[in-house]
Order: sequence, then structure tokens, then C-alpha cells
Amino acid sequence: MIGQASTTSGLLPGYAEVVVVGTGFAGLGTAIALKKAGRQDFVVLERADSVAGTWRDNRYPGCACDVPSHLYSFSFAPNPDWTRTFSPQPEIEAYLRTTAADFGVLPHIRFGTELLEARWIDADQQWLITTSEGVIRCRYLVLGTGPLSEPSLPVIPGLDSFTGTTFHSATWDDAHDLTGENVAVIGTGASAIQFVPHVQQACGQLQLFQRTAPWVMPRRDRAISRAERRLYRAVPAAQKLNRAGIYAMREGMLLGFTRARFVMKLGERVASRHLQAQVSDPVKRAKLLPDYTLGCKRVLLSNAYYPALDQANADIVTDAIVEVLAAAIVTEDATGLRTEHPTDTIIFGTGFRVTDPPVAERIVGRNGVRLSELWSTAGMAAHRGLTLAGFPNLFLLVGPNTGLGHTSIVLMVEAQVGYLMDALAQLDARGLGSLEPTQRAQDDWNDGVQRQLQGTVWNTGGCSSWYLDARGRNTTLWPTHTFTFSRAMATCDLGEYSTVVRRAAPAALAS
Ligand code: NAP
Repeated sequence: MIGQASTTSGLLPGYAEVVVVGTGFAGLGTAIALKKAGRQDFVVLERADSVAGTWRDNRYPGCACDVPSHLYSFSFAPNPDWTRTFSPQPEIEAYLRTTAADFGVLPHIRFGTELLEARWIDADQQWLITTSEGVIRCRYLVLGTGPLSEPSLPVIPGLDSFTGTTFHSATWDDAHDLTGENVAVIGTGASAIQFVPHVQQACGQLQLFQRTAPWVMPRRDRAISRAERRLYRAVPAAQKLNRAGIYAMREGMLLGFTRARFVMKLGERVASRHLQAQVSDPVKRAKLLPDYTLGCKRVLLSNAYYPALDQANADIVTDAIVEVLAAAIVTEDATGLRTEHPTDTIIFGTGFRVTDPPVAERIVGRNGVRLSELWSTAGMAAHRGLTLAGFPNLFLLVGPNTGLGHTSIVLMVEAQVGYLMDALAQLDARGLGSLEPTQRAQDDWNDGVQRQLQGTVWNTGGCSSWYLDARGRNTTLWPTHTFTFSRAMATCDLGEYSTVVRRAAPAALAS
């Protein structure tokens, strides 16, 4: 193996065989797999000062996962101590911190080190990476930067002139006191429905600016008893069985999204009853009833969202926002009538840059092609959601069409990491220095994925969502079961790749 990454935190080494970016589930999962395979020559870049990615950044009140904890965790690191069926954010962050420490990957992480640019140098078969803390070269670059890492802020005329406080759900301002304030929340997605009940209780008047009403189902959350936790600790097979049960149930739910549309109709009935039971005001109820098929956007779970909106200090504004003034948001109704809504604080629950990930602006492949430019013309696509024609030795974890609408993303991460490890082992065994999918293999894969997405509720449910890009193409979701993906990723078939024999590393860089 060429090069040895320093295992002490601090300075960047000049070279590492593998550079991983990010320390969420994807980055840590890769680091742990590298460690388990006996590879010491890797460095993990993390721009923040602690691990956990989106589960470190999103600390708004009420933040929790809507996939059951026993499935929303690594299969190789079960946690018998989850306290609730749906874990709150602090527990998931703590789980990732503990897992990183337990598997000994912390010494490989360079905190406070942001990837600024990665450029493929064909002559050296290496990535030249410029970071905020210096330059590092590597053979393999693994991006674990995740689709939910860069907040998306709306462009609204006059927003710059607003004199009150603004923040996004992913950059929550804990120090800001909402007491007595007129608070505007923009957005009604998975994040907003979790923090809105807390904001409604804390503030004077809540104005929820809703562009699209979400479907909200009852949240079947409960505390996991001490007896259950003791059982999971004493009998790990019991926890495995529980995980298997949740897995099977979630895979069963997929059918509603893909083939059995009547299941979604049944779900809509449950959600409509939930709305009816929790909101007494008929005007608010009418505003909150969605007009598209359940599942087209992420299905939301909450028992607290509707009751909060039913309170007297909560308004739902459905007119379009047209402007922001120094101390107000201006809306316009269908007749052109403008209304000023006095506002002290604006909280953006407006989601993330998923289909135009900013990290793509920083990746330059063969022949100087910038990933953002490629994707802005051709649309986001990759081979098996992981590797990319024109970008040798680049691995994009949770890449195009590997997101999920029905179950735990950790399953997809583990499948991709397994494939990556198999690819590295094969390259080493055959003395190869780089691999890059053929355009044909990549196109075939994506044609297949797009064919399978046709007719799913995500594509045809009558909504616009972040699953679809600006052209209306679904470049984010995996269309079928996770076990199908795991099977497809079980081994790396080098027949789908162009490979190049490994050249000796430049002497100055080899250790
Ligand atoms: P999101 O689902 O993308 O929702 C963004 C919201 O902002 C939508 O309601 C959208 O309206 C609205 N919006 C965006 N731009 C707007 C504009 N210019 N004017 C008015 N409204 C605007 O974002 P998110 O809620 O942060 O969730 C993102 C993803 O994170 C979720 O899908 C999920 O995968 C994950 N997440 C999971 C959990 C969990 O596990 N419980 C919690 C939070 C987040 P439209 O609907 O009209 O587009």
C-alpha cells in the first residue's frame, strides 16, 4: 500500500490512499469499513468540530428521526439503549459519536478541515485535494457529504432588507428568544412539522407560510422500557429480530409507493381522520388538506403539529409570498390583493440543496470537467448511484437515485460501502490504479432506474418535491426494495469499468 495517513489528529499528511469527506452515517460507515479491512492509510475530512453530519447540524427543537431507531442504525453496531421507537436527534448524534470512538476511527478524522476542491490528476492517478487546512493527495476519494447538508434558502425580493432575525432549521439559533414575537415559519416539510409545535408554544403569534399542505399521519412513538432494553442487551438476537420485523414491515410499505396505489388511498383516509380529529377550525382544516396523492412527498408523522396549528396564536397563510419588508412579509392572493404580515423572526424550514448539491461545484474530473457543470447539463446521475464516468476513483455515497421514501437510508449506505470495499480489494489484487464506469454501463443502469420509477407515486402523485430535479426527472430515489439494491451492490463487476494498471506513486509522495 502506498502512503500512510498519520493516525494522530492534526496536520494533514501529504498523501493518503483514501480520503473520505464527511462524518455522518456515510463517512463514518466508510471509515469503519476501511479500518475493519486493516487499511490504516485513510484520512477523513470534516469541516465541523465533531462527527454526525446532518444529525449534528440539525438540532432544532423537536428534531427526531421518523424511521424506527432499531433500523436507523448500523447493522454491525446495534444499540440496545435506544430510549424511544423514533430516536430524538441528541441520541442519534450520541450514537454516531460512540460508534466512531468504539471502532477507532477518530484519530483518522481531521476536524475543521473543509474540502475546497478535488481535482483528478490523470498522470498521477491521484486526486489533488485542496482543503481549508492545506493540500492532500489520494488515490480514492469518497464523498460522504450527504444530500441533506446544505440548507436551501428561498430567493425572495427584499429579504436582505429584513431587520429582524432569520435562521434555517439546520442552523437553529438557540440563543434567540421567541417570547412574545411574531414568528414566521416558511415551509411545511419534515423539519418544520417537528419544530412548529415548539415555536407555537414559545412565541406570541405564529404565522405558518404554507405553499403545499403535507400529508401528516399519526406518529406511533413510545418509550422503550427498561425491561426491553435489558432484554436487548442480554439477548442480542431479540434486537436483531425486532430490527428484522421493522425491516420487513417497511419493505412491505414500499408496495403502496410503487404498485398498490389503493394502499395510499387507505393511508389518505387515516391522515384525513387525523386532521379532522385534531383541528377544530374548519377554515384551517380546509387549508391543511393536501391535494395530491399520499407518498408523492415524504409522508410526515406527528401528533403535535395539527394541535399546535389549531391554537388561537397560530395562522396558516397560503397566499404566495411576494416580498419581504424591513419588518413584515408581504403576500398576494389570487386577485392580486397584497397583505403585510408584521414579522419579528423568520424561520426557514425550506429544506436542502438535494438536486444541485454544492459539493459538485468543487469536484473536477478528467479533462477538467466540473461535476456541477456536467450535472447541470446532463442531470444528476451516477453508475449504481456511486461511481461516475469521467471521474475515476470517485465514490459518491448516497449518490443519485439511492435515496429512499420508505425506510432507513443506513441500509443503502452499508450496501454502497460494501461495494466500495470490494472494488478497492479487487483493484489491489489485480495491481490496478484506477477505475471509472463506462458511459454505457452508467447509462444502462440509469435507464433501468428511470424505467422503474415510471408510475411510482413519487413521479406521478401530482406534487412537486425535492425528489424531482428542475426538469421533473427523479434523480434522488431508489425505485424499489433495499434488498434489491443490496443484491446489486454485493460485488463490483469490473466488466462495467475501464481500469488502468497502477503506476508507481511519485517518489516524493510515497512513504
Ligand atoms: P423539505 O421536505 O424540502 O421541505 C421544504 C419546505 O419548504 C416545503 O414545505 C416547501 O414547500 C417549502 N419551501 C421551499 N421553498 C419555499 C419557498 N420559496 N416559499 C415557500 N415555501 C417554500 O425540507 P425539510 O423539511 O428540511 O426536510 C428535508 C428532508 O430531510 C426530508 O424529506 C427528510 O428526508 C429529512 N428529514 C427527516 C426528518 C425525520 O426523520 N423526521 C426530519 C427532518 C428532515 P413545497 O412543499 O411547496 O415545495
